[in-house]
Amino acid sequence: MTNVPTVKLNNGVEMPTLGFGVFQVPDLSQAEQAVTDALEVGYRLIDTAAAYQNEEAVGRAIKNSSVNREDVFVTSKLWVSDFNYKRAKAGIDASLQKLGLDYMDLYLLHQPYGDTMGAWRALQEAQKEGKIRAIGVSNFYADQLKDLELTMPVKPAVNQIEVNPWYQQDQEVKFAQSEDIRVEAWAPFAEGKHDIFTNETIAEIAAKYGKSNGQVILRWLLQRGITVISKSVHKNRTDEDIDVFDSEL
Ligand code: NAP
Repeated sequence: MTNVPTVKLNNGVEMPTLGFGVFQVPDLSQAEQAVTDALEVGYRLIDTAAAYQNEEAVGRAIKNSSVNREDVFVTSKLWVSDFNYKRAKAGIDASLQKLGLDYMDLYLLHQPYGDTMGAWRALQEAQKEGKIRAIGVSNFYADQLKDLELTMPVKPAVNQIEVNPWYQQDQEVKFAQSEDIRVEAWAPFAEGKHDIFTNETIAEIAAKYGKSNGQVILRWLLQRGITVISKSVHKNRTDEDIDVFDSEL
């Protein structure tokens, strides 16, 4: 089983550098099985969201696994329809209830729309109350990150954004890193688009290291200081996608 290294967030909380996401797995038994498989092969970061409608399945898989709750880093996200102070408070409690947990490790504002400030105040309070260990955002651009930093007591620990070879986002990555906000890459494989798993340039690099295209991409992200979350509903792929800590590009 692979041991995934961790990194310290700006509030001192330790977060695995590689994790497993369950976007576009609406079938609850399939989502539960995928998370069960992921925990079995060594993933200790599970990424879901209210909008994915599978928080219950994630919670069940964690509960039924032999891994202790405190050894799993659980992330969920608040959807934009709950972006104001009051609704966000209820949204946080709804996520906790669906997950069957009394705390989440990371909770994110899913998109930078609507009353993000009101929702952020609710996240800050929930963190103080011990319901969330670290709070962050997703899909925020540099100016929106800076707005939060300048106006709110707690700055985001994480910005989860799309980063992959087809969409490298150098400026956004550099800005967040310069502010000590951890970048977490979603869709590291660009959801499989544009033949990423067979691209010849990546395949040449992969052959040199005896790895697959996907593994080279994950390594490239990790070596840029980015936490990465991938997804697969096939255990052999889940297993392949975590096997990236035995070599360096
Ligand atoms: P992704 O991880 O880039 O790609 C997933 C696709 O790659 C699936 O079709 C999967 O197929 C395939 N795949 C995975 N490993 C493979 C391998 N070794 N060989 C061949 N194919 C492989 O896309 P993603 O799921 O969109 O992103 C990952 C996670 O990021 C999500 O699950 C979610 O948690 C998060 N996310 C966040 C946001 C946001 O707005 N914050 C948006 C999108 C995603 P199979 O499943 O069929 O194996």
